[in-house]
Amino acid sequence: MSISDVTIPNDLDSLWMPFTDNRSFKKQPRLFIEAEGMHYITPDGRRVLDGTSGLWCVNAGHRRQPIIDAVRKQVEKLDYAPGFQIGHPLSFEFASKLTGMVKEYSHVMFTNSGSESVDTALKMALAYQRTIGEASRTRFIGRERGYHGVGFGGISVGGISPNRKMFGNMLTGIDHLSHTHNLEHNAFTRGQPDWGTHLAEDLERIVALHDASTIAAVIVEPVAGSTGVLIPPKGYLKRLREICTKHGILLIFDEVITGFGRLGDSFANEYFDVKPDLFTTAKGITNATVPMGAVFVRDGIYDAFMNAAPENAIEFFHGYTYSGHPLACAAGIATLDVYRNDDLFARAAELAPYFESALHSLSDSNNVIDVRNLGMMGAIELESIPGKPTFRAMDAFQKAFDAGLLIRTTGDTIALSPPLIIEKKQVDFIADTVRTVLNTVH
Ligand code: PLP
Repeated sequence: MSISDVTIPNDLDSLWMPFTDNRSFKKQPRLFIEAEGMHYITPDGRRVLDGTSGLWCVNAGHRRQPIIDAVRKQVEKLDYAPGFQIGHPLSFEFASKLTGMVKEYSHVMFTNSGSESVDTALKMALAYQRTIGEASRTRFIGRERGYHGVGFGGISVGGISPNRKMFGNMLTGIDHLSHTHNLEHNAFTRGQPDWGTHLAEDLERIVALHDASTIAAVIVEPVAGSTGVLIPPKGYLKRLREICTKHGILLIFDEVITGFGRLGDSFANEYFDVKPDLFTTAKGITNATVPMGAVFVRDGIYDAFMNAAPENAIEFFHGYTYSGHPLACAAGIATLDVYRNDDLFARAAELAPYFESALHSLSDSNNVIDVRNLGMMGAIELESIPGKPTFRAMDAFQKAFDAGLLIRTTGDTIALSPPLIIEKKQVDFIADTVRTVLNTVH
């Protein structure tokens, strides 16, 4: 068959949409055709305030001119260069700028997405353990309610049952920490809960079960985003770090959401002052203008690979055709300039208390059973309709959309993570709209 130049008008059928209820969507589509600053624009010209930074990724707001200019300039100069055994200047420049953002991480490896960053970090951890003579360490420990993307590595260490149940046995040798979400103790906490630090001791139980000599790495999101903004109890992450160090287990933070300012610092590891051995990023790294991810590697790990491999041998058999793509690097460098010039991470820290108050003003709204927040991430958990989980939140999603606000829902939780350029009056708009919506949902 030849390549067709025919496009069927208004054809919604050909596209199998990701993570979407395709049948409902195609009966009642929601489309965006433009975006600017804090807003999306629909085909009928309605402005929809972006309460979620797209999918937690447009941290500097939409269509930032310096990023557009950088990508445009780059595509006219070098559209693509292979990244294996050859390079181009922007990938080195961007890597150097990224490692300059955070102490103790001297190297990054580029990927194209959060899922790829996770698989890359898991493979690095396995290979590192082998490199230092710990080849029996092949297990990974994830956490219930963790989301680490959709690769087989990510779903195996992840802890969301619908993401797992269809896909067979996945990676072998995985175990999971218990999650830290507990409404009985922590409902309506502002910031980090006091209760729950002891849950980190679950790692000692798992180590005792499998023996430390079999465990390569533990992976957690510092703040679990996709399962509804689960905030780590005070001291919890520090304790995980201590237990990992004690047993020679690598700690990986998945910072695909928390990276690039979401908590009011460059990265969550800085915010919490807990240093993992590897941390993954994506999303905000290019303000989502071009897909990209990066894995940050703590000092010493790269050197271990360099010192162990024979002369002229590839030290780590891993990489993607588009690792360090010129357009992504151009977008990323310009994105870092925007973050710095607008002082956006400090702005997020400054706005966080206002955002917190706005969210908690919804505590007594209909069906609300929890409000939680940290930095510029927050969640409002709704009581599920008996026998109909997710219905209430999806109803809220549609009604908010109709009222000009994009929210994100997971289960019956509404998650909010607006671009860090948001104004206080727009925070008020979010709270007012959600309040009105909650008055009318089922
Ligand atoms: N890890 C975390 C913590 C995420 O939140 C996500 C996506 O939301 C991913 C990994 C996967 O990223 P991607 O969808 O870019 O593959």
